Amino acid sequence: MPTPQTIRKSPYEGQKLALATKHGKERAIARPMRCAAGLEIVLPADLDTDALGTFTGEVPREGKPLDVCVKKARLGMAATGLPLGLANEGSFGPHPFLPFVPSNLEIMAFVDDARGFIVHEMLFSEKTNYAQREVCGFGELGDWLQTASFPSHGLIVRPKSGRPGMAVEKGIVTVERLRAAIERATYHSEEAAALVETDMRAHFNPTRMTLIRRLAFKLARRLASRCPDCGAPGWGMTGQSAGLPCEECEAPTEMIHWEILTCTACAHRETRPRSDGLRKAPAGRCGSCNP
Ligand SMILES: [Zn+2]
Ligand SMILES: [Zn+2]
Repeated sequence: MPTPQTIRKSPYEGQKLALATKHGKERAIARPMRCAAGLEIVLPADLDTDALGTFTGEVPREGKPLDVCVKKARLGMAATGLPLGLANEGSFGPHPFLPFVPSNLEIMAFVDDARGFIVHEMLFSEKTNYAQREVCGFGELGDWLQTASFPSHGLIVRPKSGRPGMAVEKGIVTVERLRAAIERATYHSEEAAALVETDMRAHFNPTRMTLIRRLAFKLARRLASRCPDCGAPGWGMTGQSAGLPCEECEAPTEMIHWEILTCTACAHRETRPRSDGLRKAPAGRCGSCNP
Protein backbone atom coordinates (compact mmCIF):
# COMPACT_ATOMS: atom_id res chain seq x y z
CA MET A 1 0.00 0.00 0.00
CA PRO A 2 1.43 3.38 -0.91
CA THR A 3 1.49 5.83 1.99
CA PRO A 4 0.03 9.32 1.51
CA GLN A 5 3.59 10.65 1.16
CA THR A 6 4.35 8.36 -1.78
CA ILE A 7 1.16 9.20 -3.70
CA ARG A 8 2.09 12.06 -5.96
CA LYS A 9 -0.61 14.61 -6.50
CA SER A 10 -1.91 15.18 -10.00
CA PRO A 11 -0.01 18.06 -11.65
CA TYR A 12 -3.45 19.62 -12.24
CA GLU A 13 -4.83 19.33 -8.69
CA GLY A 14 -7.44 22.05 -8.12
CA GLN A 15 -7.09 23.66 -11.56
CA LYS A 16 -9.99 24.65 -13.78
CA LEU A 17 -10.67 23.13 -17.16
CA ALA A 18 -12.98 24.59 -19.85
CA LEU A 19 -15.27 21.95 -21.34
CA ALA A 20 -16.82 22.89 -24.66
CA THR A 21 -20.15 21.08 -24.84
CA LYS A 22 -23.73 21.92 -25.61
CA HIS A 23 -24.92 18.40 -25.10
CA GLY A 24 -24.55 17.80 -21.36
CA LYS A 25 -21.29 15.88 -21.63
CA GLU A 26 -20.22 17.25 -18.24
CA ARG A 27 -22.44 14.49 -16.83
CA ALA A 28 -19.94 11.95 -18.15
CA ILE A 29 -16.71 13.96 -17.97
CA ALA A 30 -16.72 16.01 -14.75
CA ARG A 31 -16.25 13.12 -12.30
CA PRO A 32 -13.42 11.34 -14.15
CA MET A 33 -11.55 14.63 -14.51
CA ARG A 34 -11.97 15.45 -10.81
CA CYS A 35 -11.25 11.97 -9.45
CA ALA A 36 -8.36 10.96 -11.71
CA ALA A 37 -6.73 14.32 -12.50
CA GLY A 38 -7.96 16.78 -9.84
CA LEU A 39 -9.40 19.06 -12.54
CA GLU A 40 -12.64 21.03 -12.05
CA ILE A 41 -14.82 21.41 -15.14
CA VAL A 42 -16.01 24.91 -16.09
CA LEU A 43 -18.77 25.26 -18.69
CA PRO A 44 -18.61 28.35 -20.92
CA ALA A 45 -21.84 30.34 -20.69
CA ASP A 46 -22.31 30.85 -24.42
CA LEU A 47 -20.91 28.32 -26.76
CA ASP A 48 -22.06 27.48 -30.25
CA THR A 49 -20.22 24.24 -30.95
CA ASP A 50 -22.77 23.58 -33.69
CA ALA A 51 -20.91 26.26 -35.65
CA LEU A 52 -18.18 23.61 -36.02
CA GLY A 53 -20.62 21.28 -37.77
CA THR A 54 -23.48 19.14 -36.59
CA PHE A 55 -24.38 15.49 -36.71
CA THR A 56 -27.42 16.13 -38.83
CA GLY A 57 -25.56 17.81 -41.62
CA GLU A 58 -27.00 21.35 -41.64
CA VAL A 59 -23.49 22.71 -41.19
CA PRO A 60 -20.80 20.63 -42.91
CA ARG A 61 -18.04 19.48 -40.58
CA GLU A 62 -14.65 20.55 -41.68
CA GLY A 63 -11.32 18.90 -41.00
CA LYS A 64 -10.31 15.74 -39.24
CA PRO A 65 -11.97 14.80 -35.93
CA LEU A 66 -8.84 15.66 -33.91
CA ASP A 67 -8.58 19.12 -35.52
CA VAL A 68 -12.29 19.77 -34.94
CA CYS A 69 -11.88 18.61 -31.35
CA VAL A 70 -8.93 20.94 -30.67
CA LYS A 71 -10.78 23.86 -32.28
CA LYS A 72 -13.77 23.15 -30.10
CA ALA A 73 -11.61 22.98 -26.94
CA ARG A 74 -10.16 26.36 -27.92
CA LEU A 75 -13.66 27.83 -28.27
CA GLY A 76 -14.27 26.88 -24.64
CA MET A 77 -10.92 28.31 -23.55
CA ALA A 78 -11.62 31.60 -25.36
CA ALA A 79 -15.09 31.84 -23.80
CA THR A 80 -13.81 31.23 -20.25
CA GLY A 81 -10.33 32.77 -20.46
CA LEU A 82 -8.83 29.53 -19.11
CA PRO A 83 -5.51 28.08 -20.38
CA LEU A 84 -6.85 24.51 -20.14
CA GLY A 85 -9.54 23.15 -22.44
CA LEU A 86 -11.20 19.84 -23.29
CA ALA A 87 -13.51 18.67 -26.04
CA ASN A 88 -14.83 15.43 -27.47
CA GLU A 89 -15.91 14.30 -30.94
CA GLY A 90 -17.62 11.10 -31.93
CA SER A 91 -17.84 9.46 -35.31
CA PHE A 92 -20.09 6.63 -36.38
CA GLY A 93 -20.11 4.24 -39.26
CA PRO A 94 -19.49 0.71 -40.40
CA HIS A 95 -16.90 -1.29 -38.46
CA PRO A 96 -13.54 -1.12 -40.31
CA PHE A 97 -13.35 -4.93 -40.68
CA LEU A 98 -17.02 -5.95 -40.39
CA PRO A 99 -18.99 -3.84 -42.88
CA PHE A 100 -22.46 -4.68 -41.46
CA VAL A 101 -21.58 -3.96 -37.86
CA PRO A 102 -21.96 -0.32 -36.78
CA SER A 103 -19.25 1.24 -34.64
CA ASN A 104 -18.48 4.36 -32.66
CA LEU A 105 -15.09 6.05 -32.40
CA GLU A 106 -14.70 8.71 -29.73
CA ILE A 107 -11.82 11.13 -29.53
CA MET A 108 -11.08 13.50 -26.66
CA ALA A 109 -8.48 16.26 -26.79
CA PHE A 110 -6.93 18.23 -23.95
CA VAL A 111 -5.22 21.54 -24.67
CA ASP A 112 -2.74 23.02 -22.16
CA ASP A 113 -1.68 26.47 -23.29
CA ALA A 114 0.19 27.13 -20.02
CA ARG A 115 2.64 24.27 -20.64
CA GLY A 116 2.15 24.30 -24.40
CA PHE A 117 0.97 20.85 -25.42
CA ILE A 118 -2.04 18.95 -26.69
CA VAL A 119 -2.78 15.30 -25.91
CA HIS A 120 -5.65 13.15 -27.04
CA GLU A 121 -7.04 9.71 -26.38
CA MET A 122 -9.45 7.58 -28.38
CA LEU A 123 -11.88 4.74 -27.70
CA PHE A 124 -13.50 2.49 -30.24
CA SER A 125 -16.68 0.52 -29.58
CA GLU A 126 -18.99 -1.86 -31.41
CA LYS A 127 -21.59 -1.17 -28.75
CA THR A 128 -23.69 1.50 -30.45
CA ASN A 129 -27.29 1.88 -31.59
CA TYR A 130 -26.16 3.80 -34.70
CA ALA A 131 -28.67 2.99 -37.45
CA GLN A 132 -30.90 4.59 -40.05
CA ARG A 133 -33.98 3.58 -41.95
CA GLU A 134 -36.10 4.89 -44.79
CA VAL A 135 -39.87 4.57 -44.30
CA CYS A 136 -43.15 5.77 -45.77
CA GLY A 137 -44.98 5.51 -42.47
CA PHE A 138 -44.53 4.82 -38.76
CA GLY A 139 -45.81 1.24 -39.13
CA GLU A 140 -42.80 0.26 -41.25
CA LEU A 141 -40.36 0.81 -38.37
CA GLY A 142 -41.42 -2.34 -36.49
CA ASP A 143 -38.54 -4.11 -34.72
CA TRP A 144 -36.10 -1.49 -35.91
CA LEU A 145 -37.16 0.65 -32.96
CA GLN A 146 -35.58 -1.92 -30.62
CA THR A 147 -32.37 -1.94 -32.68
CA ALA A 148 -32.31 1.84 -32.30
CA SER A 149 -32.89 1.54 -28.50
CA PHE A 150 -35.90 3.84 -28.79
CA PRO A 151 -37.22 5.48 -26.61
CA SER A 152 -34.31 5.40 -24.10
CA HIS A 153 -32.27 6.82 -27.02
CA GLY A 154 -33.51 9.66 -29.23
CA LEU A 155 -34.28 9.66 -32.95
CA ILE A 156 -33.96 12.15 -35.79
CA VAL A 157 -36.45 12.40 -38.65
CA ARG A 158 -36.14 14.27 -41.93
CA PRO A 159 -37.68 14.14 -45.42
CA LYS A 160 -35.75 11.82 -47.75
CA SER A 161 -35.56 14.57 -50.34
CA GLY A 162 -36.97 18.03 -50.63
CA ARG A 163 -36.13 21.66 -50.51
CA PRO A 164 -32.79 22.51 -48.91
CA GLY A 165 -33.19 23.84 -45.39
CA MET A 166 -36.19 21.59 -44.77
CA ALA A 167 -36.54 21.25 -41.01
CA VAL A 168 -34.95 18.23 -39.35
CA GLU A 169 -36.60 17.02 -36.16
CA LYS A 170 -34.17 15.91 -33.48
CA GLY A 171 -34.28 14.48 -29.99
CA ILE A 172 -37.49 12.51 -30.54
CA VAL A 173 -38.20 10.24 -27.54
CA THR A 174 -41.97 9.68 -27.73
CA VAL A 175 -44.06 7.60 -30.13
CA GLU A 176 -46.48 10.52 -30.65
CA ARG A 177 -43.72 12.88 -31.76
CA LEU A 178 -42.15 10.19 -33.90
CA ARG A 179 -45.45 9.48 -35.72
CA ALA A 180 -46.07 13.17 -36.32
CA ALA A 181 -42.50 13.80 -37.51
CA ILE A 182 -42.66 10.90 -39.98
CA GLU A 183 -46.00 12.18 -41.33
CA ARG A 184 -44.59 15.66 -41.83
CA ALA A 185 -41.36 14.40 -43.39
CA THR A 186 -43.12 12.11 -45.89
CA TYR A 187 -45.50 14.96 -46.77
CA HIS A 188 -42.56 17.26 -47.54
CA SER A 189 -40.45 14.64 -49.32
CA GLU A 190 -40.57 14.49 -53.10
CA GLU A 191 -40.43 10.71 -52.82
CA ALA A 192 -42.95 10.57 -49.96
CA ALA A 193 -40.32 8.95 -47.75
CA ALA A 194 -38.84 9.83 -44.37
CA LEU A 195 -35.33 9.12 -43.16
CA VAL A 196 -35.32 8.01 -39.53
CA GLU A 197 -31.97 7.80 -37.79
CA THR A 198 -30.58 7.48 -34.31
CA ASP A 199 -29.78 10.77 -32.57
CA MET A 200 -26.11 10.37 -31.66
CA ARG A 201 -25.86 13.57 -29.61
CA ALA A 202 -24.63 12.56 -26.15
CA HIS A 203 -27.62 13.88 -24.20
CA PHE A 204 -29.97 11.71 -26.30
CA ASN A 205 -27.71 8.68 -26.36
CA PRO A 206 -26.89 6.96 -23.03
CA THR A 207 -24.79 4.29 -24.80
CA ARG A 208 -22.54 6.96 -26.23
CA MET A 209 -22.47 8.83 -22.91
CA THR A 210 -21.09 5.68 -21.22
CA LEU A 211 -18.29 5.44 -23.79
CA ILE A 212 -17.47 9.13 -23.29
CA ARG A 213 -17.20 8.50 -19.52
CA ARG A 214 -14.72 5.66 -20.07
CA LEU A 215 -12.72 7.81 -22.45
CA ALA A 216 -12.69 10.69 -19.94
CA PHE A 217 -11.15 8.35 -17.33
CA LYS A 218 -8.54 7.19 -19.82
CA LEU A 219 -7.57 10.77 -20.67
CA ALA A 220 -7.66 11.93 -17.03
CA ARG A 221 -5.28 9.12 -16.01
CA ARG A 222 -3.01 10.14 -18.87
CA LEU A 223 -3.00 13.77 -17.70
CA ALA A 224 -2.04 12.70 -14.19
CA SER A 225 0.83 10.51 -15.49
CA ARG A 226 4.21 12.17 -15.29
CA CYS A 227 7.22 11.70 -17.53
CA PRO A 228 9.67 9.37 -15.71
CA ASP A 229 12.51 11.68 -16.74
CA CYS A 230 11.29 15.27 -16.29
CA GLY A 231 7.98 14.87 -14.42
CA ALA A 232 5.86 16.72 -17.00
CA PRO A 233 2.17 15.70 -17.09
CA GLY A 234 0.50 13.84 -19.95
CA TRP A 235 3.02 11.00 -20.27
CA GLY A 236 1.55 8.20 -22.39
CA MET A 237 1.29 6.26 -25.60
CA THR A 238 1.66 8.29 -28.77
CA GLY A 239 2.48 5.59 -31.27
CA GLN A 240 2.74 1.91 -32.05
CA SER A 241 4.97 -0.18 -34.26
CA ALA A 242 4.21 -3.39 -36.11
CA GLY A 243 6.18 -6.64 -36.20
CA LEU A 244 4.49 -9.01 -33.74
CA PRO A 245 6.23 -12.38 -34.37
CA CYS A 246 4.25 -15.25 -35.94
CA GLU A 247 3.34 -18.10 -33.53
CA GLU A 248 4.65 -20.68 -36.04
CA CYS A 249 7.72 -19.24 -37.72
CA GLU A 250 8.61 -16.12 -35.64
CA ALA A 251 8.58 -13.92 -38.76
CA PRO A 252 7.45 -10.34 -38.05
CA THR A 253 3.81 -9.65 -39.04
CA GLU A 254 1.85 -6.46 -39.68
CA MET A 255 0.30 -6.73 -36.19
CA ILE A 256 1.28 -4.25 -33.48
CA HIS A 257 4.33 -5.37 -31.46
CA TRP A 258 5.44 -2.30 -29.54
CA GLU A 259 3.82 0.72 -27.91
CA ILE A 260 5.75 3.97 -27.91
CA LEU A 261 5.39 6.36 -24.99
CA THR A 262 6.56 9.96 -25.25
CA CYS A 263 6.77 13.04 -23.06
CA THR A 264 4.82 16.25 -23.70
CA ALA A 265 7.83 18.38 -22.72
CA CYS A 266 11.19 16.61 -23.17
CA ALA A 267 12.67 14.15 -25.66
CA HIS A 268 12.29 11.15 -23.35
CA ARG A 269 10.60 8.10 -24.92
CA GLU A 270 10.12 4.48 -24.00
CA THR A 271 9.10 1.41 -25.98
CA ARG A 272 7.18 -1.39 -24.30
CA PRO A 273 5.50 -4.60 -25.54
CA ARG A 274 1.80 -4.18 -26.37
CA SER A 275 -0.20 -3.77 -23.17
CA ASP A 276 -2.92 -6.35 -23.90
CA GLY A 277 -0.35 -9.12 -23.29
CA LEU A 278 -0.47 -10.57 -26.83
CA ARG A 279 3.08 -11.76 -27.65
CA LYS A 280 2.56 -13.88 -30.81
CA ALA A 281 0.56 -13.29 -33.98
CA PRO A 282 -1.79 -16.01 -35.27
CA ALA A 283 -0.23 -17.88 -38.22
CA GLY A 284 -3.24 -16.74 -40.27
CA ARG A 285 -1.89 -13.19 -40.10
CA CYS A 286 1.63 -14.23 -41.17
CA GLY A 287 2.86 -13.45 -44.67
CA SER A 288 5.17 -16.51 -44.70
CA CYS A 289 2.79 -19.12 -43.22
CA ASN A 290 -0.36 -17.79 -44.89
CA PRO A 291 0.73 -15.84 -47.96
ZN1 LIG B 1 9.83 14.52 -19.98
ZN1 LIG C 1 4.60 -17.58 -39.85
